[in-house]
Amino acid sequence: MHMENLTWDEFERIRKEISTVILPIGSVEAHGRHLPLGTDVFAPVEIAERVEAKLKEMGIELLVAPPIWYGHSFVLNLFPGTVNVRADTLRRYIRDVAGEFAEEGFRRIILLNGHGGNYHPLIEAAEEVAERYNVEIWLINWWIDFREDILSICSSQGHAGEDETSVILAIKPELVKMEKAKGRKRGSKVRVIRKNIALELFPDGVNDDPKGATREKGEAILSVVSEKIARLIVEAEKHGRGA
Ligand SMILES: [Zn+2]
Repeated sequence: MHMENLTWDEFERIRKEISTVILPIGSVEAHGRHLPLGTDVFAPVEIAERVEAKLKEMGIELLVAPPIWYGHSFVLNLFPGTVNVRADTLRRYIRDVAGEFAEEGFRRIILLNGHGGNYHPLIEAAEEVAERYNVEIWLINWWIDFREDILSICSSQGHAGEDETSVILAIKPELVKMEKAKGRKRGSKVRVIRKNIALELFPDGVNDDPKGATREKGEAILSVVSEKIARLIVEAEKHGRGA
C-alpha cells in the first residue's frame, strides 16, 4: 500500500491494521556516465514494491512510504548533478520522519537504504528514534546485507558497478547508456577524506567494472533481495519482534 495515495481517514484506518512501514532512502548523485542520477532511489523503491507484492500474496499488508530522495554524498559531490545533504542534516531529517511513523503507531520501521554515504547518519537517526519510542527499526543496506547473494550473480559490485548497473537495466533500461559503461575497482588502505578524492577513487563517478551488467542479473538480484526481506518480515510478524 502506497501512503501517498491514501486519504487521511484511509490512513487512520490502515495504521491500526499494518505494523510495518518501509521507507526507501537514496541519493541524487552521479553514477558514471551510464546511469541516471536517481539510481540510488530507483533501486530501493523497486525493492520495496516487490517486497510489498510478495507479502500481499501471503496476506500481509505493508505500508510503502514516499521515498527520501536526497542523501549524504560528500565524496561524489564534485560531479554535476550530485546533491549533497550534510550528514547531520540527514540524521535529523530521518530521525524526524521515522519518529513521525512511530507517533502514528507503526511498530516496525524499515529504512531501506540505497546509498553508501547514508550509512552512518541512518544508524544515528535510528538510535535516536529507538531511544525515544517503543519501536523496532531495521536498517537494510541492500547491496551490503545481501552481498553474498549478489556476488553469486555478479562477478563484482561497486558504485555504478556491475550489480547496480544490472539492477537499473532491470528497472529502467531506457535510462542506461551501456555504450558509456566503463570503470574499475579502486580503493585506498585507509579512509582518506578530501574534497576531490573522487577523482582518484571514483573517476567518472564509477568504482567497479560495469561492463558485465545485464538485465537478467539485475532481475536475479531484485528477486533474491526482495524475497529475503519479505521472509524476514514474515518471520518477525510471526514472532512479534526481531529480524
Ligand atoms: Zn548508487
